[in-house]
Amino acid sequence: MIRFLDPDRLQQGYYSSIGTVLQRRDSSKESQSLRVFLRDLGPRWVSAPAALGKNRFGGGTEPLVWGEFSLYQSPTYLYLKEVEVKEDFLDLRRSASLLSSALRLYKMVSDAVLTAHESNRILVLLWSGLVLLRELCPKEAVELRFTWNLLHAIGTAPSLWNCVKCGARLTAGASWSPDGLLCGVCARQIRHGYANSAALNNIRASALLSHRDFIKWSRALVQSETEELDEHLKKLVTFFSDIR
Ligand SMILES: [Zn+2]
Repeated sequence: MIRFLDPDRLQQGYYSSIGTVLQRRDSSKESQSLRVFLRDLGPRWVSAPAALGKNRFGGGTEPLVWGEFSLYQSPTYLYLKEVEVKEDFLDLRRSASLLSSALRLYKMVSDAVLTAHESNRILVLLWSGLVLLRELCPKEAVELRFTWNLLHAIGTAPSLWNCVKCGARLTAGASWSPDGLLCGVCARQIRHGYANSAALNNIRASALLSHRDFIKWSRALVQSETEELDEHLKKLVTFFSDIR
């Protein structure tokens, strides 16, 4: 029988990297599979003993927790040996609203990243999203920022500057279409998911401001603006359907 080496498998040995758990599968009473997302190593499925899991890893495999993961690649499996917790994001886990928002970021990342492919940019994006939620920036703006940048990282983000149909600069408002934003001429009378120029600027600011500027800007948003961002977020997340 011919046996092929798995090109995604690490060379046998010990590894250590910063990251977080994306998914878990309780495979049996003795062991569970965790999909950890690690710097330089990307997402990887690892085997971890299920019994005493919480205690053994000091909470390092709990949702939203970030830590230094120590792994061992055997000839057959990648094992989790130890987790040193670096940040537990306890404030997010204590608030139902922030928790559900944070878990939506995890779900999107989990769907978007490819196992065994280095995705440091997306790992940083996830970290930054959690920090912004913890800073109590409006979650609608944080999620819109995160979603557009995640789409951008995988190459499917709609342009926030040009009409997807004719390429004209979007100087006034714009309307959503399944392919992207349309200028007034191309959208004609369609006002489906219309963003006026102020709303369009808020979408751009959400997506593109620096981390520090975003904190200051988003905290000054009023409720009607965050509600509006939430409507545009609903349009934006549909762009993920292409990759599923
Ligand atoms: Zn156009």
